[in-house]
Formats: sequence, C-alpha cells, structure tokens
Amino acid sequence: MKDFLLQSAKKCGIELSAEMLGKFQVFYEELIETNKTLNLTAITEEKDVVLKHFIDSMAISKFYGLSGTSVIDVGTGAGFPGLPLAILYPETKFVLLDSLKKRLHFIEGVLEKCGIDNVELIHGRAEDFGREERYREGFDFCVSRAVAALPVLLELCTPFVKVGGLFLSYKSERLGEELRAAERAMRVLNCRVAAEYEYELPDTDFFRVYAAFEKEKNTPGKYPRQAGKPKKNPL
Ligand code: SAM
Repeated sequence: MKDFLLQSAKKCGIELSAEMLGKFQVFYEELIETNKTLNLTAITEEKDVVLKHFIDSMAISKFYGLSGTSVIDVGTGAGFPGLPLAILYPETKFVLLDSLKKRLHFIEGVLEKCGIDNVELIHGRAEDFGREERYREGFDFCVSRAVAALPVLLELCTPFVKVGGLFLSYKSERLGEELRAAERAMRVLNCRVAAEYEYELPDTDFFRVYAAFEKEKNTPGKYPRQAGKPKKNPL
C-alpha cells in the first residue's frame, strides 16, 4: 500500500514523508477492518482506496496550499477528504463534522492509533453547528465531498467560512448544470465562483472537478435554516 501511495502521490506533485505513510497505512488497515462490520465505504480494493480516497482527498493541494490555515470538512463520513488532508498538513487545524456518530467513532480510533493531534471531531448537523458562535465564520476553508447537491451544500458549508475565505466543493463531472442550479443560493449566501479546476486522478479515467466559492460578505443571519430544511427546500 505504502509504495503505491508514495508513487501515486508523487505523480500529483505531493511529497509524503515516512511518518505520513505510516499514518496512511494505519488508516487503510482500520478502514478495511472496520468496514467489515460498519458501512464506511464501498471502495475496498487497495488501489482504489489509495486513488479514490487518499489521493482524491489530497489532490486539492495542487491548487490550494492549506498550510497554517483552518479547515472544516462538512459531512466527512469515514474522514474524506478531511483526514488525508490533516495527515498531509500536520500544522493545520482541521474540524471534521458528521451527523453519524459511528463514523466519527471510527475516525477517533484512527486519530488515537496514529497520534494525530490536529483534528477536532464534531458530531452533529451542519445546520446546527453553522449557527454556533465558535464555528460560524471561523474557518479559512471549508471542504466537502459527496454530501449534497450544490444549492444545499452552499447553505450547509458557507456559514462556516470567514469573509474572504473559500468553500472547496469536490464534485464529479456535472458542474455546469449544478452551478446553474446554484445561482440563487450563491446570491442569497453572498458568495461567488472563484475558480473551477478539472483534474484526472493518476492512472485512472476518474475525473474530479473542484469548484471554489469565495465568500464575499457575511452569511445572512437566517442561514443555515433549521436542520433538514436546506435539503427539503433548497435555495
Ligand atoms: N465525505 C465523505 C466521502 O466523500 O466519503 C462521506 C460522504 S457520505 C455519502 C455523506 C456524509 O455526509 C454522511 O456521512 C452523512 O452522515 C453526512 N451528512 C449529510 N448531511 C449532513 C448534515 N446536514 N450535517 C452533517 N453531516 C451530514
């Protein structure tokens, strides 16, 4: 696993130290073991975990340096993309949020086994924590992968971002359509598309599209709405 990860990371311009590789090894073993009894991921082949989880999570670093910043991952699930990024950037403070406690419990085990101390876990809904003073507009970056359609996601994620900060959405190929559907949400939530990047994972035909949204002004006080409302009635 380690050699393949090291080589694949190199192809993306990502340098991993021996210490980082050791942490990924533990993460991988725990993921496979825990997945036997708890539904964490449908991706279990070694190569696929490396490329579609680890490399995919870290590839954003080609476009944005996260060193010394603060980052929240909304809907982290089994830790993607937040945990690989936290391993890659040990000096950066990460908050990983999810409403499913069992998945966070899994991440907690990995953090303990690896001695990772730059990650805080939050169990709860983004709609609730996005209103909490301690977290609202408290992060330079918010990242999120495979959680919701853009209009919903923007309401869940942008309240965490500082004015001038970025929400980085990991998406697959249908970005144009999604962006059109999210025009109203962007207007209401005071953000704009700052950049779009298309990226092919090494040795795959797996495309990833990143959309970066810059927060131009504070999020209006009424957002995010009550838990469940953003999805039920998207902006
Ligand atoms: N981001 C991970 C990944 O890419 O593998 C997990 C994706 S999984 C399909 C979606 C995750 O988002 C689930 O773990 C779910 O519990 C979480 N989630 C969905 N809506 C949420 C919300 N409103 N607040 C917090 N977590 C949420």
